[in-house]
Amino acid sequence: MSNPFKTRTGGATVTVFAPYDCNNHCPFCINKEEYADTSDFSLEKIINSIREVGAFTPYCDFAFTGGEPMANLESLQLMLDAVAPTHRVFINTTLPVMNDYSEDEVVAFLNRNKDKITCVNVSRHLHKYVEESRDELFGRLEVPVRVNCVLFHTHSPQRMLEFVRRFEPWNIPIQFRADYTKTTPENLYDEAADDILWELRSVFRPTEMEGCRIRCNYEFLDGKHVVSYHKTLPYSTMTVTDGEGRTYDILYDVLIKQNGDFHSDWTGVLMNLEDYKKVIFEPYDLHRIY
Ligand code: SF4
Repeated sequence: MSNPFKTRTGGATVTVFAPYDCNNHCPFCINKEEYADTSDFSLEKIINSIREVGAFTPYCDFAFTGGEPMANLESLQLMLDAVAPTHRVFINTTLPVMNDYSEDEVVAFLNRNKDKITCVNVSRHLHKYVEESRDELFGRLEVPVRVNCVLFHTHSPQRMLEFVRRFEPWNIPIQFRADYTKTTPENLYDEAADDILWELRSVFRPTEMEGCRIRCNYEFLDGKHVVSYHKTLPYSTMTVTDGEGRTYDILYDVLIKQNGDFHSDWTGVLMNLEDYKKVIFEPYDLHRIY
């Protein structure tokens, strides 16, 4: 560690990499390579790490990602059970009912865990990169769902409008996401040059926007249907020097990798939990626009 840590009040979001790969090959994926060699993957170490960091920041958010967290529901159950009920819990998934589990089994699993899960973030895209379950499955779920759609390759306002309305019967919020490999500190808040933002503004009613140093989110309405546009930098730690010359590494995510190791960033930086335990907490919305 080069600098002391700072993070949001309550603790950085803990992102847990499930030790199971997905069946997809999305062109924008930055995680896929990590699943080529599974020899040091350890569910037991992941669960220990969940308990350790959860005990230190008992009110932080947890996000399960992958790979595919729902590729093994028995393991996901064990990981969910290790998260204390004080946390909000998000699952990033493609909802892969075509492989080892039937639709009934997937629905039963999520509904059985509805008190543990804050929201299931389901990947669906304008171009089909992932193996999709039936849309009708959404009508059977008792747990909140959001659809995440990475805007990659071609898109148009009309195409985005059609996509949003596809999920209107279930009133599922849609989050369009910028291709984060192209986001930089210089263009994160550059609205004039952001074609996607202008396209969205041409078909949806803008309502609000909020952000911080590392990510921002614009909200819209299509009737009563909520649509958002999310931009984030391709890393989650920022080094900042305050007015008194003190330099901090500001953490927006703490990662638990497939082998249970803690990382302080998406760029492969190992983190010692004892260093994180000396973190200084501060308000999250440091750069709220309005
Ligand atoms: S589904 Fe997720 S983990 Fe799998 S290739 Fe696509 S982005 Fe990567």
